[in-house]
Amino acid sequence: MILLLFGPPGCGKGTQAAFLAGRFHIPAISTGEMFRAECKAGTELGKAACEIMTKGGLVGDDIVNGIVASRISRPDCANGFLLDGYPRTVPQARQFGAVLAQRGLPDPIVVHLDVADEALVARLTARRQCPECRRIYNLMFQPPKVAGQCDDCHAPLLIRDDDSEAVIRRRLVAYKELTGPILQWYGNSVVRTVDGAMAPDKVRSAIEATVVDALHSVPAGK
Ligand SMILES: [Zn+2]
Repeated sequence: MILLLFGPPGCGKGTQAAFLAGRFHIPAISTGEMFRAECKAGTELGKAACEIMTKGGLVGDDIVNGIVASRISRPDCANGFLLDGYPRTVPQARQFGAVLAQRGLPDPIVVHLDVADEALVARLTARRQCPECRRIYNLMFQPPKVAGQCDDCHAPLLIRDDDSEAVIRRRLVAYKELTGPILQWYGNSVVRTVDGAMAPDKVRSAIEATVVDALHSVPAGK
């Protein structure tokens, strides 16, 4: 089972990836973690990626694809895997498809966790942080016991710069510019959209049902 999970910032993708990994006994691999591991291991690809990342550059498709191809060869991926944050470009998606075909692996199940911009903005602008202990609150989901004040240190809570509406809207635009073409490339018949605006446990059941359904309709290996 090969799962690709797409969703905008703040959609709860990390939580759902962890759930799916446990539910289907597959590793959830985020590209960020994979890159850090490869850097640390000091492989040739890792060293190349490291150098680019420390300079703040974007790692090119060839290096990214190489690292992914190597990571999914590891024994823990024998029953499948979930990728979060890859592919990031259409050429990566195309190359990934070629790798899967070469290895006789099934087509990926593509899940798109969709949440309307307004809901994401509402969620993310509801975040507050304690300047003392850095604890994060959310006025919608995890409000402090006393309004505007940290439960632990009673310091007045602040809005982080990252959580300002302007920053969030910019991130959403960037996400759409990046992910839109990839979802389009996979096409409507492949991409399975799940409504991510529901409560997290409802989203979880919906994703689970979607994946089970996809498993029954995707031919195993071709
Ligand atoms: Zn605090």
